[in-house]
Amino acid sequence: MTKNQTKKIREQLEAKLAEVSGNGGRRDELITEWSNDPMDQIQSRADLDLTVRFVNTDFQTKRQVQTAMALLENGEYGICQECGEEINPKRLEAIPWTTVCVSCQEELDEVGGDSDFRRAA
Ligand SMILES: [Zn+2]
Repeated sequence: MTKNQTKKIREQLEAKLAEVSGNGGRRDELITEWSNDPMDQIQSRADLDLTVRFVNTDFQTKRQVQTAMALLENGEYGICQECGEEINPKRLEAIPWTTVCVSCQEELDEVGGDSDFRRAA
């Protein structure tokens, strides 16, 4: 991987991290706000489920982005963290913060993972 590629990926990861974190430095507050929201803001059981799912997905994505950043720093970016195989470059392009290959992701999904990854792959 060239320096330019690394730089570009880091920028993408930083942008995603900012997106799932809310405005810089307020990440943990964001999650607290959501879970402490008064019930009158929640119109129905469906809204509640959606809110919880939204927070969980953001939280999971944030953790993945942070892991991907760490891997990028130590030169392991693009290597599946489950099986050690290279991750398909097209998959990395679609989801720069992914840390597992498609087949490992499918196995993780079966255990109850995040369906977004299957769709993007
Ligand atoms: Zn794998």
